[in-house]
Amino acid sequence: MEFDFSYQLDAEGINPPSMKRVGLFGSTGSIGTQTLEVIRANPSLFSVSLLTAHSNHVLLIEQALEFLPAVVVITQSSKYALVKEALSPKGIMVLAGEAALEEAASMDCFDLMMAAIVGFAGLKPTLKAIETGKNIALANKETLVVAGDVVMALAAEKGVSIIPVDSEHSAIFQCLVGEVSNPIEKIILTASGGPFIGRKPNYLVNVKREHAIAHPNWSMGAKISIDSSTLMNKGLEMIEAKWLFNLEPSQIEVVIHPQSIIHSMVQFKDNSIKAQMGLPDMKLPIQYAMAYPQRIPNDFPRYNFAKSATLSFDPPDYKTFRNLGLAISALNRGGNMPCILNAANEIAVYGFLNNRLGFLEMTEVIEQTIAHVAFIEHPTLQEYFDSDGEARNFAATLINL
Ligand code: NAD
Ligand code: MG
Repeated sequence: MEFDFSYQLDAEGINPPSMKRVGLFGSTGSIGTQTLEVIRANPSLFSVSLLTAHSNHVLLIEQALEFLPAVVVITQSSKYALVKEALSPKGIMVLAGEAALEEAASMDCFDLMMAAIVGFAGLKPTLKAIETGKNIALANKETLVVAGDVVMALAAEKGVSIIPVDSEHSAIFQCLVGEVSNPIEKIILTASGGPFIGRKPNYLVNVKREHAIAHPNWSMGAKISIDSSTLMNKGLEMIEAKWLFNLEPSQIEVVIHPQSIIHSMVQFKDNSIKAQMGLPDMKLPIQYAMAYPQRIPNDFPRYNFAKSATLSFDPPDYKTFRNLGLAISALNRGGNMPCILNAANEIAVYGFLNNRLGFLEMTEVIEQTIAHVAFIEHPTLQEYFDSDGEARNFAATLINL
């Protein structure tokens, strides 16, 4: 499939911002609540037209009463009556169930989708939003990991922008603005290393949910926190970067940078390296993606070179954190492999979070699932869905879910 996504880096062609109407998918999560903080601080730039959440109806209702969107979706249908009772008197349309996400994504009450649902569940609504011409601020990396070729081709066809929210990809995007015709040699994704940096398998075999979920630099949702602790997150991000920036796998490098001050780098073919830096705070990539090409002034804490001058860099420990190697193999192999890897990983992480399997056993579940599900070199969208389902079922049987 052919697509050239460089047009969206040509910031000069884009009009200055008027009020953007945001459809926030996954409003109760870590990215969702930080997105609302950004919107709350910039009422002349953004309004909220749509909110969705899976199960936290209490927070969803509170958010809806504050921001008064036109539409709210609660995907866990058992909560529908409670949400409807609370919001109908305010004239807010309330929908429920998984299919309602796609219905909402195709509505014309919003111009910009903040894709902040976690996991495979974010893919279908994002495709629907692209199909109906909305620009996407993309936090949900799994969307590109599962079906990056389909998603990017559809976006190019519809002329919509996909602006990354993931901090590393936001950093690369920011380094590329103004560089439309300058060839990239490689990108360097930085990784904090997670809470188990420097640890070996004999330690990791015993770690539990509470250890793994406590990330040293970022406060995030449960799934991405576990992915960060296994380095799977960085593998998913390599795949995400391939699709966002149209790169060959060999152009994507990972370096461990425990301070999380350099958010990632681009090395151009003239050997110049550009980095984007700052204190770790997701509100910055969130607001950059929403306001692009504008930068919004804010009072977030500033990085002080005099106080914390040491920035260090190391290669990843592939031998200990084997999930990263599995993701790189899937990236190199292509086809439906990243989709299978992602599905197996979602089940493995779920199993670990629910104390059904150990930290190192997550890798075994992924490895066995990859070996089991048939490889397809050029999958259709339906084949991606089928591969996801098959991988998910197989991984679940491995851990008796
Ligand atoms: P989270 O778990 O805190 O929130 C997830 C949101 O998705 C919630 O609103 C939840 O209601 C909703 N959701 C969960 N399952 C759903 C389902 N089956 N159907 C519909 N909605 C569902 O997650 P998060 O940390 O905010 O991450 C969201 C996405 O952003 C992930 O893809 C993650 O990889 C990415 N991301 C997050 C961060 C971060 O700092 N949290 C950074 C970079 C990228
Ligand atoms: Mg990231």
